[in-house]
Amino acid sequence: MTTSAASISVVLRRLQSVDLQIREVRGRIGSFDPQLAEVDATVQQLGADAETTSGRVEELRTEERRLQRTSSDMQARLKKLRERAKVVRTVREEAAVQAETGHVRRVLDSEEQERINLLDQVKRLEDRLASQQTALEEGKSAAEPRRRELVAERDAAHEELAALEDRREGFAAGIDSRYMRVYDNLIRSGRKAAVAPMAEDGACGACFSVIPLQLQNEIRTSAPLVICEACGVIVTAPEETDQGDPEPSPAET
Ligand SMILES: [Zn+2]
Repeated sequence: MTTSAASISVVLRRLQSVDLQIREVRGRIGSFDPQLAEVDATVQQLGADAETTSGRVEELRTEERRLQRTSSDMQARLKKLRERAKVVRTVREEAAVQAETGHVRRVLDSEEQERINLLDQVKRLEDRLASQQTALEEGKSAAEPRRRELVAERDAAHEELAALEDRREGFAAGIDSRYMRVYDNLIRSGRKAAVAPMAEDGACGACFSVIPLQLQNEIRTSAPLVICEACGVIVTAPEETDQGDPEPSPAET
């Protein structure tokens, strides 16, 4: 029974080491999504900035077209007033035409000024838009390799995980189902160590509580399912017992 005691303790601990690796790789896989989101967020922000500016340029252009239309209307009114000025019969009529002409000119002047200011703003915004679009293109080309790199790393991690899960299945298949049930419950409860070798002095390898002498003997000789009363891990035969053993593959156990 000593060989089997040694084997089960070796296999359980290997299983545990694979499970720890699986946990590590799963954690790594989980960390890629926020990293990818961060890479995308930078590009999205640059895109949003350019879009805001472009929207504002469009608004100002619409406003400028409106001013152009009023300006043409005003020009048409001035033309009519000039015609009327030629045919006025009284001083009063002439004064009225002059007053209206003056009013229309003032409106035209102020709208012209407004249009100039507007075109000035459009020019500045278009400059800003151009540099924002450059920044967006640069951001995209900077993000692309980083994105590819992260996706490649994530794919590699998935492959690593699949290989580890295969290995785990191999180990698990060779382990007595009673051990597996206890082991799985311990792992599922989220604890890091489910298996610990007994120390040479008979202490639990995880919490260092001394195991009762009779149980120590059982662990050394027949390796029954021994659970540490203090911390709940499966206590296996001491490390030293393993050393004489050839590395058993899962298939051999
Ligand atoms: Zn313990």
